[in-house]
Amino acid sequence: MSFETIIGLEIHAELNTKSKLFCSCPAEFGAKPNENTCPICLGIPGTMPVLNEKAVILAVKTGLILNCEIAAESRMDRKNYFYPDIPKAYQITQYDMPICRGGYVDIETPEVSRRIRLNRIHLEEDAGKLIHLENSGVSLIDYNRAGVPLIEIVTEPDLRSAGEAVAFLKALKSMLEYGGISDCHMEQGSLRCDANISLRRTGQNILNTKVELKNLNSFKELQKALEHEEERQKVLYIHGEESRIVQETRRWDGEKGETVPMRSKEDARDYRYFPERDLGPVIINDALIREIRETLPEMPMTRKKRFRDLYGLRDKEIDIIVGDKALSEYFEALTACGTNPRAGANWILGSMMKLLKEKGLKTGQIPVPPEELHKLIKIIAEGRISITAGQEVFSEMFNTGRNAGDIVNEKGLSQISNRSELKRIITDVLNDNPQSLSDYAAGKKQAAVFLMGRIMKASKGKANPQLAREILEERLKQEISSK
Ligand SMILES: [Zn+2]
Repeated sequence: MSFETIIGLEIHAELNTKSKLFCSCPAEFGAKPNENTCPICLGIPGTMPVLNEKAVILAVKTGLILNCEIAAESRMDRKNYFYPDIPKAYQITQYDMPICRGGYVDIETPEVSRRIRLNRIHLEEDAGKLIHLENSGVSLIDYNRAGVPLIEIVTEPDLRSAGEAVAFLKALKSMLEYGGISDCHMEQGSLRCDANISLRRTGQNILNTKVELKNLNSFKELQKALEHEEERQKVLYIHGEESRIVQETRRWDGEKGETVPMRSKEDARDYRYFPERDLGPVIINDALIREIRETLPEMPMTRKKRFRDLYGLRDKEIDIIVGDKALSEYFEALTACGTNPRAGANWILGSMMKLLKEKGLKTGQIPVPPEELHKLIKIIAEGRISITAGQEVFSEMFNTGRNAGDIVNEKGLSQISNRSELKRIITDVLNDNPQSLSDYAAGKKQAAVFLMGRIMKASKGKANPQLAREILEERLKQEISSK
């Protein structure tokens, strides 16, 4: 029996606005609990919401980036549910008249290149955050997030594997970052993903009961949760127990490594949607769409092609550098200083990524300005210090913010590239090792390797190896011909 997996995603992204969706409270992350609140976002009766124009513009911009149709008129609705994270007991969202419809994202995995269709994008407010204190029976509530503007992007059930779902989320995240739509910090919850998954026998054209997996907040979780749920459903089908697959919401338990039931899934009618009469319709005219279209920056797909053609980078390097907006901007700033693109890519993907990871920094927080890294690369290219010493200097620059020249001077890392000084060191080494010299003359070529080692040691590792080898070879030739 073979099966086909059907996956659809719902992605929530917090919009890059200064203030919340219906009030002027700051929308920033990281303030003290309940500091960013007012009567409007606390849902005090009698207050009136005012729609944030910037949020509407960002939603339209997302629609243009994702090839959607922008609704000339859309509407806000109330979604009613009673839960402490939502102080009004309803969330203001969009139901049957969303701001964007249709659209698509092209994805590439090692197996396939496919177009994933979108169903819609709608604008809504975020809920507050509940903090459940362990073993105390007490829950705390922080309303700073209540009313922060969100877009929800809903795909069609076009994805066929966990790998495709991850490829989709990566492509989407990168497009939202490039567009300046959201900061997409998954670990802070500004980009969150829910997945719907069902199975059907290969060749069938029906949609079976789907299970919703909630809050998959890293690529790894998304991959693992989908793979696990796919397997769970497959086993039930094989044993003829598919009736046990019910419409429900499950969550990923990372510790157990499995999906566990959370609650049965509500239907739309449970939410008693109705129009939000405190807000008028959202009208978007063609002139505004044109104006927003003009602000669209270069998107990752276009940049990937440009990086391949212009800098000759390899596909794998491009995926990492261009997949991350901050890294690709750093790379371009570095080459603009005159750094060779190959050297630039090697430094970014090697020492830079390693140090960022060690320090737990984001790619937008690189502490070494591109022009300073360029100076270091130049010092190495000129042969003033070795590559190994260069890596040591870079790590020091990264940790202290000091410049390459000062560190090289202070640590005495400069290579000896002075011919007469090298000649003197080499003469000493040859005088101290007459046996190696006669071995070499007798045809034992590895004696030269031993002598190079001695030269490096005698110079405390500072001899410019290329130049030293050249001089040594000259001297060895002379010695042989003089015998
Ligand atoms: Zn407020």
